[in-house]
Amino acid sequence: MSQTSDLVAARVRDVPDFPKPGIVFKDIAPLLSDGEAFGLLVDDIAKRHSGRVDVVAGIEARGFIFGAPVALALGLGFVPIRKAGKLPGDTIASTYSLEYGAAEVEVQADAFAPGARVLLIDDVLATGGTAAAACELIERGGAQVCGLEFVIELGFLDGRDRLGDRPVNAILTV
Ligand code: AMP
Repeated sequence: MSQTSDLVAARVRDVPDFPKPGIVFKDIAPLLSDGEAFGLLVDDIAKRHSGRVDVVAGIEARGFIFGAPVALALGLGFVPIRKAGKLPGDTIASTYSLEYGAAEVEVQADAFAPGARVLLIDDVLATGGTAAAACELIERGGAQVCGLEFVIELGFLDGRDRLGDRPVNAILTV
């Protein structure tokens, strides 16, 4: 394991049976509360994508926590991919299924410049439904997904399989 994956492994708390029985929730609060570890994680993601992307997108809500500082570290803008009904103006929407439940994500129709190279960030890759829906939005919006970054991947759920050939990296795979 890399130094960054060790940091994440030591600072993510497993919460059994949350938000419903049978789910082991990956609680990132201890990681966020450690400023040095949080900063090292953001720098690790940013340096691997420096010069390769034009904009960073994050998935509501915890993808915002990691995506916005990565965008700033790269000197780039940030696009929020939000749950349905939160964004004003023209939007593009996609529905998807979660490890627990179903939902819809949206992005503003003019969020991406044509052909923009997008780095997409979220905290956890579980079944891959959320990230696949977000990729679809980015691509329907006229941009391209040049990389996906997750802090934690639940490898046993095979979420990567839903993301096709797009380049996927997880700091820690469990
Ligand atoms: P999925 O669409 O199944 O890949 O689910 C990913 C989304 O749900 C991410 O935005 C995560 O924040 C959240 N999520 C799914 N499973 C978990 C889990 N076990 N612990 C924490 N967050 C999760």
